[in-house]
Amino acid sequence: MLLSVIVPCYNETAVIDATWTRLSQVLRENGDRNGYEYELIFVDDGSRDDTLEKLKSAASKDTHVRYISFSRNFGKEAAMLAGLTYAGGDCVVIMDADLQHPPELIPEMIQWYRQGYDQVIAKRNRKGDNRRATLMAHLYYRIVNHIVDVKMVDGVGDFRLLSRKAVDGLLAMQEYNRFSKGLFSWIGFKEKIIEYENMQRAAGETKWSFKKLLSYGIDGLISFNNKPLRACFIMGGLLVVISVIYILITLIQIILHGIVVPGYFTTICAILIIGGVQLISVGVLGEYIGRIYYEVKRRPHFLVADTNARLKGADKKVD
Ligand code: UDP
Ligand code: MG
Repeated sequence: MLLSVIVPCYNETAVIDATWTRLSQVLRENGDRNGYEYELIFVDDGSRDDTLEKLKSAASKDTHVRYISFSRNFGKEAAMLAGLTYAGGDCVVIMDADLQHPPELIPEMIQWYRQGYDQVIAKRNRKGDNRRATLMAHLYYRIVNHIVDVKMVDGVGDFRLLSRKAVDGLLAMQEYNRFSKGLFSWIGFKEKIIEYENMQRAAGETKWSFKKLLSYGIDGLISFNNKPLRACFIMGGLLVVISVIYILITLIQIILHGIVVPGYFTTICAILIIGGVQLISVGVLGEYIGRIYYEVKRRPHFLVADTNARLKGADKKVD
């Protein structure tokens, strides 16, 4: 049995050696004991520091190390997809480079995998996280789970083990706007959730700005169905009903009392509300059309500049 561990790295020079060492320690020992081989696939997502040099030097000392280096920063989703594309393993573990995902959890994941689970998902608690971020996340998942069709759980990230079946399922989805949290849930298969203590980043700093988080959040809402479009439709319908009622009332008043002083307030209200709803609806439409635009271009998800990894099977697509 072969295990592939995928590690997306973007400017991780501060921790990358530590990650490699700790992963190797755990896997060498556990692999020997439980009879499996492993490969470490580091995906350098266009780092601007010397992450790639460190990976190359690791690869020259350790035959388990593969590196895939992108031509520029394509984002973590692309990095994970590249890892999955190149992974030759019977099962695959995806984890962050910053040791927030403890490698010591992998042996337990393997155990569950051997008991027949296709996705072994590591769930973190939010201990030590900033209070506001925790609150925002809770709120976000509440809303998202009402709107989208797939189930998303707070604290569950990309740290997980996937069987070959699950990986092939993910690779079958070559959409341009990838939202892995949703994709993982969409493919289904037998799932097992294991819990671990939240950990702060070992070194370096987070790559998530507020702007990136916001756009990620919107992706989550829009990637899985067209309910936002339907919401616009319903909003428009409601407005029409309200307007008709209002017009009728005014008409009756005019018939009964004749034309009274024209209402400045009601006019302004109507303009503002209808204007607002229209803009929101156009925005939602725009989001979907934008996605279609990117989707029809069928651009590759990433470009590889340098790698020592080889694709398993010539029929696999490289993109
Ligand atoms: N990452 C990446 N490309 C990016 C941003 C991040 O490959 O454009 C990697 C990063 O190197 C790390 C993982 O994604 O291994 C998670 O990033 P980070 O730790 O910054 O996110 P956080 O843990 O703060 O959510
Ligand atoms: Mg992190």
